[in-house]
Amino acid sequence: MSTNRNLLVAAFLAAILICGCSSDKPTESTPEVNNDNLVILRSSSPHFNYYCTLRDVAVIDTIRVLLETNLQRVSALYNFSVNDTIDVKIYPDFETFHDNVEWPTDDIPSTLVGQCVNGYELKIVSPLNSEPINSYSEMLIVVVHESTHAFHFRIMGAVSGSLYPPAWLFEGFAVFEANQYPNRDLIRQRIADGDLPLIEQYENPDFFNANYGYHFCYTIHEYLLSAFGYDKVSVLLKYPNQIAYSLGADVTMATLNAGWHEFLAANYGE
Ligand SMILES: [Zn+2]
Repeated sequence: MSTNRNLLVAAFLAAILICGCSSDKPTESTPEVNNDNLVILRSSSPHFNYYCTLRDVAVIDTIRVLLETNLQRVSALYNFSVNDTIDVKIYPDFETFHDNVEWPTDDIPSTLVGQCVNGYELKIVSPLNSEPINSYSEMLIVVVHESTHAFHFRIMGAVSGSLYPPAWLFEGFAVFEANQYPNRDLIRQRIADGDLPLIEQYENPDFFNANYGYHFCYTIHEYLLSAFGYDKVSVLLKYPNQIAYSLGADVTMATLNAGWHEFLAANYGE
């Protein structure tokens, strides 16, 4: 009896299934969405959330270690903390990345591979697809660079990104802590030519791009740490436009330029 009843139930269920399959009625189930190619939240670590496609999940572990380690190191040096999370958005290709960055014109530089315009989000091209502009390992350095910008906004307490520090300080901090640059030969040449720039000239984007801004701003940050120490430079990062308040009552842009040029001659000259 029991076996027969089971057979009857099985036949009934089969009939329902067959009936359901052959029905002309529109299905009421939600269409299945393939999320593989969407930049969505894939995982989190204590201070960062990682958004990427399924393919780029493969780089999250590497980026997670890099970012958490860098945050720990830089926050100890400059005495700040991040008490919530920063979103890390990894775009699968240049086209998608450029569609999602903030740029004042439609003419986005083809070499742009990372961006951070506030303290709660940074964006990069996937290290798995950043050739020929940057190699995989170069992109990991870009991750550290962009996260340092995010930390700078946090230090300033300007999470919204409405207040930008001058480029010589903003980029100098990022390239120094990402250990990027400088090209010693080109700096040595400018010293030999008696053609050293002034710090404040790097506030002009055109001057910055035409005069090896990343290289020279690295050395400005290096000089600031050497001359004033982490505690005072931390105050300057927080109050970028208050040089005397941050570094000392007798410090002006003129004395900074003189000190920086002496530092370059001593450390980058012949
Ligand atoms: Zn930068």
